Amino acid sequence: MAERRSARREPRFLIIGAGMAGILSAVKLAEAGLTDFTVYEKADRLGGTWRENTYPGISCDVPSHLYCYSFAPEPNWSHHFSPGAEIQAYFENVAHSHDVEKFIEYGQEITRCWFEDGRWHLETANGETDEGDFLIAATGVLHHPAYPDIEGLDSFEGSCFHSARWDHDVPLAGRRIGVIGTGSTAIQVVSALVPTVGKLTLFQRTPQWIMPQENAAYTEEEKEYFRAEPEVLAAMRDEISTLFADTFSNAVIDADSPQLKMIEVVCRENLENSVHDSELREKLRPNYRAACKRLIMSEDFYAAIQKPNAELVTEPIERIEPKGVRTADGRLHELDVLALATGFKVDRFMRPIKIIGRGGVALDDAWAERPTAYLAISVPEFPNLFMLNGPNGPVGNFSLIEVAELQFAYIMQLVELFRSGRAREVSASRAATQKFDEDRVEAAKNTIWQTGCSSWYLDDRGVPAAWPWTFARFRDEMNEPRLDDFELV
Ligand code: NAP
Repeated sequence: MAERRSARREPRFLIIGAGMAGILSAVKLAEAGLTDFTVYEKADRLGGTWRENTYPGISCDVPSHLYCYSFAPEPNWSHHFSPGAEIQAYFENVAHSHDVEKFIEYGQEITRCWFEDGRWHLETANGETDEGDFLIAATGVLHHPAYPDIEGLDSFEGSCFHSARWDHDVPLAGRRIGVIGTGSTAIQVVSALVPTVGKLTLFQRTPQWIMPQENAAYTEEEKEYFRAEPEVLAAMRDEISTLFADTFSNAVIDADSPQLKMIEVVCRENLENSVHDSELREKLRPNYRAACKRLIMSEDFYAAIQKPNAELVTEPIERIEPKGVRTADGRLHELDVLALATGFKVDRFMRPIKIIGRGGVALDDAWAERPTAYLAISVPEFPNLFMLNGPNGPVGNFSLIEVAELQFAYIMQLVELFRSGRAREVSASRAATQKFDEDRVEAAKNTIWQTGCSSWYLDDRGVPAAWPWTFARFRDEMNEPRLDDFELV
């Protein structure tokens, strides 16, 4: 590995992960003239969640012109909501056009990071080491697949994989496919597969509210217009951002909001009007409020699940056997392929990397109860370690790209303290972190997430671990750090 220390008094950055947030970091650092950094990527390709999730039907349900960087608008999105492969290509293009690929080291899985003598040190699985002044964790949220704890899972004789590890070598056409789960992923998989497979069996533990959401293609004329009028594209992005926040992101944090009531009406009507068989309709009817779990957008799921080759199974899964899934009614659902759309371990963040802060404190210990971070960015006693899309930030109902951009601009203001010589070590104070935590737990009581359903938003106490305030408040917070909340050394 090349000599890393810069002769200048400018900081060196170690960035973990070349997904959306890692590429953002690289572009922004280079733009600021801070070119002493390396992005460590464990895989052989950038793209993060969009590299890993390639399941049939994958698309993003944040509007395309919002789900892209503000500094890299994309006039050529094919649809109002982009397919996953297009988003992956977008990140590759941005990394290329902004000339940041040269900063990425692929195939380098970081195993350990430790803060010693005022600097961050790291070690990779290959035994290589590096050091720098700042450690940026751009490791994503929905990253570690959660495998269901079902008896006999390993005994299945067909092909079995998690949705985030889709095996494209396995043929699907005409075959019997089982899908476990009814989250955003499963709904997209089912909608995409029913038209091609022999039989699709969906194993539902909990039904979901479905918001009908068309996904029209942009016409060539529209794309041409976006290409010719970049300011129109920028204005449209702002408009979508405001609309998205007003109708959705801000609605979910107030369980009594009129927008939520409207969403509920739309979802109920969607169910009533789209599902014709009353027995099936009741099986698909949730007994909790819409958007309590992450709301699902789909224009074709209800149509798909009513096709003759689709079956919704609501009997609990008893075990998995070599030939298929045995449900509690004793029935064996014979399958060739079993897809586990069972979600992610959302409390891992940059772990399993061993992260050791000031005085030898391990992040695993600091987070022994649950992960937490001041404003989702900084952890007491972990100086100069900053997270993008860290714990308790806005997730699920926001454009994570917009969130990361705001966070990065905030982090750069903290970095400025170092550059100007005001502080060599910057981390949130314990008191400020505790206050932030108490405030968010209190505010979370008003959110739709805490109205009586289980979801990945909830921590082990049943408290929503997500940002419980408006997006405007997040923007305000990210505007300028309150230095009283930090410990500067
Ligand atoms: P998820 O929302 O966590 O859903 C996991 C599903 O698996 C749930 O239906 C859960 O049932 C079921 N499940 C888990 N363990 C099970 C078991 N042992 N037996 C039976 N069922 C089991 O995961 P996801 O669908 O992958 O989505 C995660 C998040 O990723 C989404 O909420 C969203 O934020 C994001 N995402 C977005 C998009 C998009 O933009 N369109 C697409 C995909 C994902 P219960 O409900 O009963 O727990």
